[in-house]
Amino acid sequence: MKTFALAGNPNCGKTTLFNALTGSTAHVGNWPGVTVDKREGVYKGGAEKVNIVDLPGIYSLSPYTPEEVISRNFILDEKPDGIINIVDATNLERNLYLTTQILEMDVPVIVALNMMDEVEKTGDRIDVKALESAIGVPVVAISALRKQGIKELMDRAISMSAQRKGTTVLGGSLAPKIERARQFFAATNVASPLFHAIKLLEGDEIELRHSGAKELFTEISAGQDMEAVVADERYKYISAHFSTAKSKKETQVLTKSDKVDKVLTHRVWGLPIFAVILFAIFHLTFAEDLFYINTIASACGNPLPTFEDMGYAVSEGTGMYENFGIALAACFYDGAVFSPGVILTNILNLILGYASYGIGLGVESAGAAAWATSLVNDGIVGGITAVLGFLPQILTLFLFFSILEDTGYMARVAFILDRIFRRFGLSGRAFMPMIMGFGCSLPAMINTRTLADDKERTATIRVIPFFSCGAKLPILTAIAGGMCQLFGLPSVELITFSMYVLGIVTAIICVIVMRATTMRGEVPPFIMELPAYHMPGFKNLMLHLWDKTKHFVKKAFTIIFVSTVLIWFLQSFRWNWTYIGADDMGESILASIGQLIQPLFTPLGFGSQLGSYGWVFAVAAITGLIAKENVIATFSVLAAMFVAGFEGTEEGVEEAVVMIEATGMTPAACIAFIMFNMTTIPCFAAVATAKAELPAGKFGGTLVFWLVTSYLVGTMIYAVGEWWWTVFIWLAIAIAAATVIILHNKGKIKFPKLRKKRA
Ligand code: GDP
Ligand code: MG
Repeated sequence: MKTFALAGNPNCGKTTLFNALTGSTAHVGNWPGVTVDKREGVYKGGAEKVNIVDLPGIYSLSPYTPEEVISRNFILDEKPDGIINIVDATNLERNLYLTTQILEMDVPVIVALNMMDEVEKTGDRIDVKALESAIGVPVVAISALRKQGIKELMDRAISMSAQRKGTTVLGGSLAPKIERARQFFAATNVASPLFHAIKLLEGDEIELRHSGAKELFTEISAGQDMEAVVADERYKYISAHFSTAKSKKETQVLTKSDKVDKVLTHRVWGLPIFAVILFAIFHLTFAEDLFYINTIASACGNPLPTFEDMGYAVSEGTGMYENFGIALAACFYDGAVFSPGVILTNILNLILGYASYGIGLGVESAGAAAWATSLVNDGIVGGITAVLGFLPQILTLFLFFSILEDTGYMARVAFILDRIFRRFGLSGRAFMPMIMGFGCSLPAMINTRTLADDKERTATIRVIPFFSCGAKLPILTAIAGGMCQLFGLPSVELITFSMYVLGIVTAIICVIVMRATTMRGEVPPFIMELPAYHMPGFKNLMLHLWDKTKHFVKKAFTIIFVSTVLIWFLQSFRWNWTYIGADDMGESILASIGQLIQPLFTPLGFGSQLGSYGWVFAVAAITGLIAKENVIATFSVLAAMFVAGFEGTEEGVEEAVVMIEATGMTPAACIAFIMFNMTTIPCFAAVATAKAELPAGKFGGTLVFWLVTSYLVGTMIYAVGEWWWTVFIWLAIAIAAATVIILHNKGKIKFPKLRKKRA
């Protein structure tokens, strides 16, 4: 079976074409760098079946980014039967820059001129025949989105001749130099000597590793910046010979995208607009008083009535309104209109509530042993429903972010933020992984592959967990809810929002410190094509959500299931394996383990200063290392032990209240606990991903970084919360540290170098 590779610039429509060819449903994103790995599929629509490989998007074949290296090595080493070079016809010159480099390889090439529907819309014309004869390889006009021209493209690709010698657009004074280098490589018998020759001329670091190549390079480059010369020649050739195929519509009109961009990427308004959009998303996901209707009504002296005010009673067993119709209605409105995210949560929790009530009754009537009843009710049902209840809000948040990404708006935000990010020592490209971190750290860490610089990448991966992910949300809302009830604080939303902000601030400070110390380096220039705005594809969005749901439900029923049962076991049995039952759980196995580690957390406020059950917070934090959902699931299992006949809620608030009351946590300790969980070593899966994605040798340091940061942040919050004047001490320490770093970077002070021991 023949293999064809799809190569092209980021965002030229490779994945769309790949999906159209193979019938697969790979993620299409209006964001450069979504496809960072290669992907394979089979095209069956032609005379013979062919294998299709989707390569990551690249602007050139120089080894500056991991994507470029992946694509280059694939073509050179795996020797596909042909390259389908996808060219975004709305951006012809820029895209053909890559084409001129692909043509230099000894491999059959066909150019797929994509997005022709867009070109036609703007009224421009491209003479495909003229372009084909100028480039010297087949050119086919297609629209991957509309599935036009695809059959012709593949038919011509399949019938391409199997052999092709590389050609180059470079000539003139460069020709003798290239020929000299070509002979050098031809003598070593490598494939595509012309390609290697030109890359060597550009001073490409991979080529310089060949023996004797350095000397040759010094000779032919003669001290000139050959890379710039070559790039310049390519562009000159493209605009002189290839671009002539394109004729612009007479009168240049601003496209719709341009007009929208005038507003959305405005120097002054761009950022406030983004802040408003972000706030709107959080409001639609979490608000329990949509558009503040009830707040306004209350201010006018007419608070909206709850169903209880209207005289509907709550039933004993399920904790819902006795009348099912009212219980359902209360999912949408109960004294205030709820946001879509909250409505979905309520509906799911209504169902889960009845289900766990039913299971509880079933187990009771079956007359099971006390330990078995407890295992089912407290261990299994309690833990899983506590976690599943958060699915709707995670999905809602995720849906909004997918829409922003798919429309092309996120690329604009990266562009706007680049100016600000630069001050912290990052490029705008680091924004996407960070914002993805709010959903889940795993894809966020993988997305950092779009960052060219290893040090920038390491710094970004390290702070991604501080962008509180969906699994950490339960910790936030539960404890914030508990704090509001116990300490009379005004608003859950406000605490949650502040915690998110605190996480972001921690991330920023850490990035600044890292980029000034261990991770110093230049910020690479920000080159990104702003893609045209598109309507998001409905099917695409749904596929996305479905994937996410599957993943989450699977996690709830596997990792979290096992850990909650384990926690239940450890806290229900003594070391001599006898069941504790309603007796004092202070005798449990879990209690003794917890008491052992508890003192470690004393500086953070949830250590030895707490009452007799204080160890539960230490235990919850440790179980969070497996999956962050476990923290609240653990609370829910443990709370059932404190209070006989405990009726939990799916939001975990009651659990948190019980925990805080039983242990004597102070508000500062609660905040320190949240922040510790937010900034410490993330879940198991994220740690494994970080290990795979971090540059070699950076993993150990990263674990230490997470531990130190979380410990420091927790201690600081607790200390300042309890004794506000310690602010001055922390400030003094921070100023001293900053002074040392700045003086050291200016070369004013030097540290003694640590010498490595010689064997
Ligand atoms: P990749 O980064 O090269 O894989 O590009 P994608 O396949 O993710 O596509 C980038 C964007 O271009 C998506 O929003 C697609 O819907 C859009 N797109 C792809 N092909 C076409 C096309 O032929 N016409 C139009 N109008 N849009 C397209
Ligand atoms: Mg793609």
